[in-house]
Amino acid sequence: MALIDGFGREITYLRMSVTDRCDFRCVYCMAEEMEFLPRARVLTLEEMTEIGTAFVELGIEKIRLTGGEPLIRRNMESMVESLGQLDGLKELTITTNGSQLEQKAQQLRDAGIKRLNVSLDSLDEDKFKRLTRTGDLNTVLKGIEAAKNAGFERIKLNAVILKGRNDNEVIDLLDYVLENGLDISYIEEMPLGQISEHDRGLSFCSSAELRELIAEKYELLPSSEVTSGPSRYWRIPGYESRIGFISPHSENFCDSCNRIRLTVEGRLLLCLGNEHSVDLRAVLRRYPGERERLKQAIVDAMTIKPERHYFDLDEEPQILRFMNATGG
Ligand code: SAM
Ligand code: SF4
Repeated sequence: MALIDGFGREITYLRMSVTDRCDFRCVYCMAEEMEFLPRARVLTLEEMTEIGTAFVELGIEKIRLTGGEPLIRRNMESMVESLGQLDGLKELTITTNGSQLEQKAQQLRDAGIKRLNVSLDSLDEDKFKRLTRTGDLNTVLKGIEAAKNAGFERIKLNAVILKGRNDNEVIDLLDYVLENGLDISYIEEMPLGQISEHDRGLSFCSSAELRELIAEKYELLPSSEVTSGPSRYWRIPGYESRIGFISPHSENFCDSCNRIRLTVEGRLLLCLGNEHSVDLRAVLRRYPGERERLKQAIVDAMTIKPERHYFDLDEEPQILRFMNATGG
């Protein structure tokens, strides 16, 4: 069974938002004051597991749990265990801000998570606080240390780089990654939701600029490695680390898109940068236990996956949902 969209792309990768809530308020992701969803609108962990199971039966090979901050949802570990046991699922992974990792890393590794993404935009305590508004750098660094000790196969940092805020830390982050045997993806900010702290056009930093900056210190060689995500990778001779760039503006990756997203309300979003979606929660709650109906709704949804996103940083954001509501 395979999920194929109207442009012939095979969909094998599902990102599931476990919660829209978060203990951080990163300036590019959220407004300072946020309203979160009431519980009744949020899928239960059992409902998420049921939807995840239907997807895997339809050929999804990789599920990433994200949010909001996935590790703050109570009992989410039980869902990790259930999803981890699904036949056909080749990879179950998590993107986290790292705030809970010190306590949870080992449990997640034991439940079958092999790789982990941790978001980290600054190694400077004050700057980290300003970017996350509520985060504590040392807690996250301890979390990364705990993850290293827990024996994940790979740990990748995600860093959104903003001109004038953390673009002077590109090399510091890379040095940290190389010293610790981690991977990194540098991300161009996307215009999702209305933010107030910076002008997205003015703070834009292209991946090409970052590569030029890195090349002043390190030899950066393009690599043909691909993962199932949107990063394009480079290598530095003598190091194991993969240096990735996620470039939704400067190097559009839509033609090879294999991804769909499930919001915490059970809305299946066919594209990060468009509103095309299908309400799977409605199907699930109207026909409880009828997995074939759910699967049919998913198959039917493939026909409305848009060809590509169109982002323009100089315009008001067309997509009003924030990244935390999207399942980044
Ligand atoms: N809370 C977790 C975390 O921060 O890793 C998971 C959810 S977060 C929305 C997932 C990823 O999206 C993070 O790496 C974050 O940096 C990135 N992100 C959030 N808002 C973004 C934006 N407007 N543009 C690009 N990336 C963004
Ligand atoms: Fe929370 Fe992650 Fe968004 Fe930061 S990027 S506010 S940690 S969901």
